[in-house]
Amino acid sequence: MPDPADLDSFRLGVRTWLDANAPAEVRGVLTSIEGQGNWGGRRPTFDPPEMKTWMEAMVARGWTAPSWPVAYGGGGLSVEQAKVLEQELAAAKLPPPLMGFGLEMIGPTLLQFGTEEQKRDHLTKITRGEIRWCQGYSEPDSGSDLASLQTRAVRDGDHFIVNGRKVWTSYGDMADWIFALVRTDPAAKKQEGITFLLIDMETPGVSVRPIRLISGKSPFCETIFDDVRVPVKNVLGQINGGWTVAKALLGYERSMIADAFGASERGAKRKKGSGSRLVQLARQYGLGDSGPLSDSVVRDEIAQLEMDECAFHLTVQRSRDAAKAGHRPGPESSLFKVYATELNKDRFELSVRIAGAQGLGWEGPGYDDDEIALTRQWLRSRGNSIEGGTSEVQLNIIAKRVLGLPD
Ligand SMILES: Cc1cc2nc3c(=O)[nH]c(=O)nc-3n(C[C@H](O)[C@H](O)[C@H](O)COP(=O)(O)OP(=O)(O)OC[C@H]3O[C@@H](n4cnc5c(N)ncnc54)[C@H](O)[C@@H]3O)c2cc1C
Repeated sequence: MPDPADLDSFRLGVRTWLDANAPAEVRGVLTSIEGQGNWGGRRPTFDPPEMKTWMEAMVARGWTAPSWPVAYGGGGLSVEQAKVLEQELAAAKLPPPLMGFGLEMIGPTLLQFGTEEQKRDHLTKITRGEIRWCQGYSEPDSGSDLASLQTRAVRDGDHFIVNGRKVWTSYGDMADWIFALVRTDPAAKKQEGITFLLIDMETPGVSVRPIRLISGKSPFCETIFDDVRVPVKNVLGQINGGWTVAKALLGYERSMIADAFGASERGAKRKKGSGSRLVQLARQYGLGDSGPLSDSVVRDEIAQLEMDECAFHLTVQRSRDAAKAGHRPGPESSLFKVYATELNKDRFELSVRIAGAQGLGWEGPGYDDDEIALTRQWLRSRGNSIEGGTSEVQLNIIAKRVLGLPD
């Protein structure tokens, strides 16, 4: 445990540095795992443009990946220091300088399973926002039963030739590299014939096709591999040992989803004394300009939801605090994933009910931009309990691997 006095002086240093280096324009900018914020990559978009300055300043400190080793572009901070940095960023309403599956999913997995060469090849590019990653797990006939996947990789000297089709690849059209599960031994038991491959999306034979969603957006794609040559050195972990790597990555993914949806108001702009966003919404739709909301049922539902969110946020914090440095998420990440995503769905259900008919706008006159965005976010939230493994599948994992119940 570090000396609290050291942490206090670290906090002061962070605060002073943020005051001096964070552009005013980025304060209050919203980020989300649904694409808001800076996701870096070979074709980055910085909105507002000062996000670029913000990212570069944080990259120079290693603070896009505060607790990763300095050798790989991280900040080398202890768990306690990283928490202080996170608190100071939140207090100053500063967004993460960089988001993405590189930092949250493949990066930690590379730290756990990568060779030294793989870590050096990939991690610094992730921390610098140079490469954007996507996830190639699901296939048209392999979602919950992921181990039944059929994309084939056949050895040809020091390469694999990959053929097959992935589906629901989030941001596949914007990503530079994909981490994919491929079948390398069709004769083995299904979990034992899988290899985890890192593939540059610019390799000949890789193509992506966006899929349009119920929300009207196309944040994910079909990814097709047609005789794609991938060097054997791009195998993460062992050949035919990819299932172990895949499960570890799912732990990181589920923690990311739980973090993202568990406390949806963290970092949001909130006027002093104006109440939460749900309360503001209720006032906007006629439930009273001040004092208690006039509809006691809505009042009760908002209070219940916000207490649940607060309790969940504290539980996540407690679990993080209890985790020693280097702790890796295990099957308990399924608990957080289920709860966080069900909470997020409840929040949007309630928001749409508060907005009444105005919460069902799709386009055209009669609805303002916020109302149209609300309808689309509500529809999008239906996918929260599917992505990263469905709630039913998480409950199976909790039953078997956390509670030890029989099959
Ligand atoms: C927004 C979003 C983003 C995504 N992004 C990605 C991505 O980037 N990369 C990627 O690889 N995949 C991604 N996915 C795919 C996601 O991982 C799969 O959709 C998910 O694993 C479920 O698979 P499926 O859609 O084939 O449904 P199925 O597996 O066909 O499931 C259908 C229904 O049956 C239930 N079910 C299935 N098996 C069981 C069981 N054993 N016990 C109880 N119930 C069961 C499920 O809970 C579900 O309700 C994304 C999905 C969404 C919605």
